[in-house]
Amino acid sequence: MAGEFELIDLIKARCATARADVRVGIGDDGAVLRMPAGHDLVASTDTLIGGVHFPVSTEPEDIGWKALAVNLSDLAAMGATPAWAMLALTLPSADRDFVERFADGFAALAAQHHVALIGGDTTSGALAMTVSVLGFVTPGRALLRSGARAGDLVFVTGTIGDAAAGLRFPFEGLFGTSASREACDALRARLDRPVPRVAAGVVLRGAASACIDVSDGLLADLGHVAKESGVGIEVSGPSLPASPALLQAFDAPTRLALQASGGDDYELAFTLPPSREAAVLRDLAKTGCGATRIGRVVEGAGVRLLDAGGNEVALPRRGWEHFA
Ligand code: ADP
Ligand code: MG
Repeated sequence: MAGEFELIDLIKARCATARADVRVGIGDDGAVLRMPAGHDLVASTDTLIGGVHFPVSTEPEDIGWKALAVNLSDLAAMGATPAWAMLALTLPSADRDFVERFADGFAALAAQHHVALIGGDTTSGALAMTVSVLGFVTPGRALLRSGARAGDLVFVTGTIGDAAAGLRFPFEGLFGTSASREACDALRARLDRPVPRVAAGVVLRGAASACIDVSDGLLADLGHVAKESGVGIEVSGPSLPASPALLQAFDAPTRLALQASGGDDYELAFTLPPSREAAVLRDLAKTGCGATRIGRVVEGAGVRLLDAGGNEVALPRRGWEHFA
């Protein structure tokens, strides 16, 4: 067992990436940061609670990675370039091994994006962590949920449904699926180590009319875009991109439910005027993250999932909601 300050030192040693714009980092009452001239600051925060946002059996490294990843995903959805992060960590006990491994997972992703951990808080209680992230965007260029217009096309990056599929295996094993061990591991990795689409967000900034990250479920998240933009959205079920592992593991109806309403994929869903489609897809491909056209923006309200014949498909649930 370790003391609070020993734990903070452990975290600091692993996560305090050197950045010239951090004038004062971990160790004082507050961090002092220098904003780059002529940028807007984008701020976001997200909490992960053990047993709610990750299975309690999740490896500490994966929890650390995911705590940062879900936050970087929010910055990506805003088109922001991440810079700084804060970490409020609540632990059931001063478990040095857990904190070291958690910090290693956090630091691995932070290093990829040159994000400095600049402060936080360490308290005792049920396992939970709140990460806050700060990033920059060209003035007026932040991607919002509110800009979709009737006639725009709807896209999603990467593939979706994997994380929701990965969540099933610890509980259901391979029972009832035709998945290989490798496919299960690939799906589980999407749940435990989501890859925030930061580079894609930067490509989309100034090009997409609206953007959101897929955290609660595609239909639920597109519902926020529809509401904020004052439009309707039609999603074509057969167009939804699936990974090879998902194709192998589940039949078409199960796949569709996982893709349309399973959460935790952290892909970007966005809208574009048709005139920008070709250029944006080309620029996205250069970042190594393709996107697939999945629907269109229409006059009206709400999100409708359509089958190949254009008929509406009803799903038992559309996404994850706390308190629901
Ligand atoms: P205070 O009592 O003034 O709030 P603390 O003793 O909580 O300060 O924290 C000391 C320093 O360590 C501060 O710079 C704080 O931001 C940082 N810190 C505390 N916990 C964490 C953590 N989990 N991750 C990163 N920095 C932390
Ligand atoms: Mg203080």
